[in-house]
Amino acid sequence: MTAAVNRRTSGEHSAGMAAAAGILETVFGYKQFRSHQAAIVETVIEGGDAFVLMPTGGGKSLCYQIPALVRAGTGIVVSPLVALMQDQVDALKQLGVRAAFLNSTLDRAQQDAVEAQLAGGRLDLLYVAPERLLQERTLGLLGRSRIALLAIDEAHCVSQWGHDFRQEYRQLRLLAERFPSVPRIALTATADERTRAEIIGELSLEGARQFIASFDRPNIQYRIAQPDSSARDRLWRFIAAEHPTDAGIIYCLSRRSVEETAAWLAARGRTALAYHAGLPADIRRTTQERFLAEEGLIVVATIAFGMGIDKPDVRFVAHLNLPKTIEAYYQETGRAGRDGEPADAWMAYGVQDIVQLRQWIDRSDGGDAFQKVQRQKLDALIGLCETASCRRQALLGYFGERLAEPCGNCDNCLAPPDIADQTVAAQKALSAAFRTGERFGVGYLVDVLLGKQDPRIERSGHDRLSVFGIGGELAAAAWRQLFRQLIIGGQLAVDPEGHGSLTLTDEARPLLRGEKRFLVRQSPTDVEGRVKRKRRRDPTIADGDEPLYRELKALRSRLAAEARVPPYVICHDRTLAELAQKRPASIAELNGITGLGQVKIERYGAALVEVVTRAPGLSQR
Ligand code: ADP
Ligand code: ZN
Repeated sequence: MTAAVNRRTSGEHSAGMAAAAGILETVFGYKQFRSHQAAIVETVIEGGDAFVLMPTGGGKSLCYQIPALVRAGTGIVVSPLVALMQDQVDALKQLGVRAAFLNSTLDRAQQDAVEAQLAGGRLDLLYVAPERLLQERTLGLLGRSRIALLAIDEAHCVSQWGHDFRQEYRQLRLLAERFPSVPRIALTATADERTRAEIIGELSLEGARQFIASFDRPNIQYRIAQPDSSARDRLWRFIAAEHPTDAGIIYCLSRRSVEETAAWLAARGRTALAYHAGLPADIRRTTQERFLAEEGLIVVATIAFGMGIDKPDVRFVAHLNLPKTIEAYYQETGRAGRDGEPADAWMAYGVQDIVQLRQWIDRSDGGDAFQKVQRQKLDALIGLCETASCRRQALLGYFGERLAEPCGNCDNCLAPPDIADQTVAAQKALSAAFRTGERFGVGYLVDVLLGKQDPRIERSGHDRLSVFGIGGELAAAAWRQLFRQLIIGGQLAVDPEGHGSLTLTDEARPLLRGEKRFLVRQSPTDVEGRVKRKRRRDPTIADGDEPLYRELKALRSRLAAEARVPPYVICHDRTLAELAQKRPASIAELNGITGLGQVKIERYGAALVEVVTRAPGLSQR
């Protein structure tokens, strides 16, 4: 089909869009385009350029895959994620799409075969690594072939300021000169203005239509706590109660805690693998492969794990430490629930994390301006953690997006915390630190406030201070928590030498003078329990359908093993849930099921229907 669809009047459906809707249903098995997808697909089908900003899991791939199938010729997809190409191509082949890739993992013969397919017009989609695309040989080949479109995935890699900068991406602007009549579409999940402007400038996309989707991921439930007991125990209660068989990712700061946490989970019967930059490359690769191929695996990782993890059914992402910035938090938690089903972003952090990040910034040699930006970013992150109102509103607000109503799907919405005015106690705590010479740590100061008989206190004469024994209204644990809040709030700073002594900052003054109140968020003690009762099952399966759902999962595992692809490439959980609920009795009835396109029905329809019709309980329905 060609782009002979330009002259349509508004309101009329173009032939191209009719074809696109057909492909969405028969190839992908989806009934409707999501928010911006239809407009993007239409723009590209008609030969226009597009710039697409969508969050992870938003559905960017369809935006170029469908136009590539509608337009004549092959869609070329530039992607830096070489490790992902095999998976992407496998998944497309499962849908009956003629897809291939060109990168350094192919040997000469394989490469020749792919090039011949392209030249012969036998490919719908070709994934190419940027360095390969830029070779004169590849450009020449493209020049001789029929190209449907050029998609530039992970387009933020052109940005010199981002951490994914790729030199070759800067040269991709030559695509505009070499292939002026081919529509180009650049896609990214990186939100900030500067990156967006850089992409458009660097890739000569000034004339492109821009599509900016909401950054909200409504299916992700956010929970952030500063637990007083062990964060790990709390994590275990969360996993055991809510994700007993699900796949998830747990992020820790240090390699040691990664390994300890993985062993700790394994001792409790979960399959958990450690992943960090210190492990040999082959172990890291196997971990990544197992995470994709097996169901219910947990990976415990430093931030090294993530880029290139395109698993749709990660049901939870947990942080056992503070991430570095809100951007990092959003990217990491964004790996949960790409399939749109309910998923959790769970975080526990401690005051130590904040102290460490502050010291890391102070010691960094990026210069004053850099340190200032980093401090602002850390403060924004702490603000998100400490807020008593909707987390999603705070998160989206940070990215410049306004959510009118509280979301109803975060811990603060589901179990609102209490706010306590601790101004007087805070003044006492600050005075205690000040009057003892800003040389002591939390334990000593609490003893002073409580008026404890202690030789150390007596030797320094601190038992004669006015603050000695004025803190009877709170117990020791509550005082310790208050000191933590003052450190988090930035009124007290911990000495960088690591003795734990507390000094007052400029922030402390307005509090001491009574110009500012000190309001503290009291974490509900049992967020997990309160939140859980209100949450949906993922995905929603009635008790009566559960046995069939499990049988279908087992069938999917077998089919996946035979086809040598991850289970989610055969179909998503949502599809199995629908099958278990609707119980189609014939192949014809499979047509209405989400995620089952024509080719999948041909391949797996008979096996699926067989399991469904064999299922007990069918006669009563
Ligand atoms: P992104 O690349 O933006 O992170 P993907 O393209 O991988 O997102 O899509 C995320 C998930 O959403 C995939 O599992 C995809 O199959 C699914 N998806 C995309 N578009 C639709 C749609 N219109 N209807 C149903 N599911 C969709
Ligand atoms: Zn909320």
